[in-house]
Amino acid sequence: PPSCSLEVSSLLNLAPERSLITTPNMPNIVVLGAGVSGLTCALLLARQKGNVVTVVAKHMPGDYDIEYTSPWAGANVLPMSLDKDSRWERRTWPELRRLAAEVPEAGLHVQTARVLRRQADVTPEGLKSAMVDGLYQFSPWYQELMDDFRELPAAELPEGMHSGCEFTSVCINTAIYLPWLVGQCARLGVRFRRAVLKHVSEAAALSHTGERAELVVNASGLLACRLGGVMDDKVIPARGQIVLVRNEAAGIMPTTSGCADGDDEVVYVMQRALGGGTVLGGTYMRGNWEANPDPNIAMRIMRRAVEMHPELTGGKGVEGLDIIRHGVGLRPLRKEGVRIEKELIDGTWVVHNYGHAGWGYQGSFGCAERVVELVDEVLGKAKRESKL
Ligand code: FAD
Repeated sequence: PPSCSLEVSSLLNLAPERSLITTPNMPNIVVLGAGVSGLTCALLLARQKGNVVTVVAKHMPGDYDIEYTSPWAGANVLPMSLDKDSRWERRTWPELRRLAAEVPEAGLHVQTARVLRRQADVTPEGLKSAMVDGLYQFSPWYQELMDDFRELPAAELPEGMHSGCEFTSVCINTAIYLPWLVGQCARLGVRFRRAVLKHVSEAAALSHTGERAELVVNASGLLACRLGGVMDDKVIPARGQIVLVRNEAAGIMPTTSGCADGDDEVVYVMQRALGGGTVLGGTYMRGNWEANPDPNIAMRIMRRAVEMHPELTGGKGVEGLDIIRHGVGLRPLRKEGVRIEKELIDGTWVVHNYGHAGWGYQGSFGCAERVVELVDEVLGKAKRESKL
């Protein structure tokens, strides 16, 4: 009986089995998408008393597929917004830092980010970078946000670098973190279902309760460009090719504003927590849907990584790399920036949360928080609370 399981839950300091205590009157929400965006939304929605949440997705944590971006990410925190007050990144950083410090099973650890501005990228108009973002700005807005921020003195700059900075960041082992998010959601009663949807409004019929959902959160990532009712042609892939190796990167995550190999190639190295290997990147190829790793690009990625970070192979060069796998992920780049807004589509309320390009993890909690606000606007917070 529900009362029994509630008592046991509280004794074990576990969240109560929400599915046992729901009533048909509680706000019923379907989250479409089980990437970092959908899962973080489901978690924050489920933390609010009174919401009944189902996650529906074609791909789930554990899958590796070119249509599913989240598992391929590094992932680390390198603030990218050009916006001086990036709410998404500003609100996410404290939570990721807390998880790294206090929740080891979430799969994050603290690492030092080293951001290098190449001499060749400094132009009279300012700094140009392959990813055209705020990361490489001089005197960046995030110096007040990130701990231990310091500009690098000239003596610490590698050859060919104009300037650079360092700060404390985290690296996320996505193979641990995504399933951890699923577990956190499940503890709060969120249910998970596989489905392939042609139209966003179909999601409303897929709540595990059997009742029609009152609202759908659309966290469909790159596939927002193909989803009926959305068909957002501003969403394109920014192809990221990576090499995952067993070599260790000694606590430093270096990245540069560009490289000599082309405008759509980038350089970064990050060691994942809990034995997740070290990710060598990469590329940022706009409009490119190619799912297979290109061997020539892979060679260039590895060469650049050991040049920038010789510690990886103890001076043995590319031959010293021990490869786990090659991979490709497609960042969901939206030309006008992320879309977080509500919309009534064919009689179904939808709150969109897609188009996070290369910052979906480092903006995840800030964006999900905004989604919760919009859900409250649509469903009415007062209404939800009155149903408790
Ligand atoms: P996805 O992870 O793609 O999830 C979309 C979900 O929607 C999936 O479950 C999919 O099955 C489902 N779906 C879509 N359409 C349908 C449908 N019609 N029916 C059913 N289900 C559907 N970010 C960082 O913050 N830091 C980094 O260091 C970083 N590094 C990156 C490196 C690489 C190489 C890449 C590729 C990305 C990187 N990113 C990084 C970006 C980050 O990975 C993305 O921004 C993020 O994963 C997007 O997540 P999402 O949940 O929006 O989309």
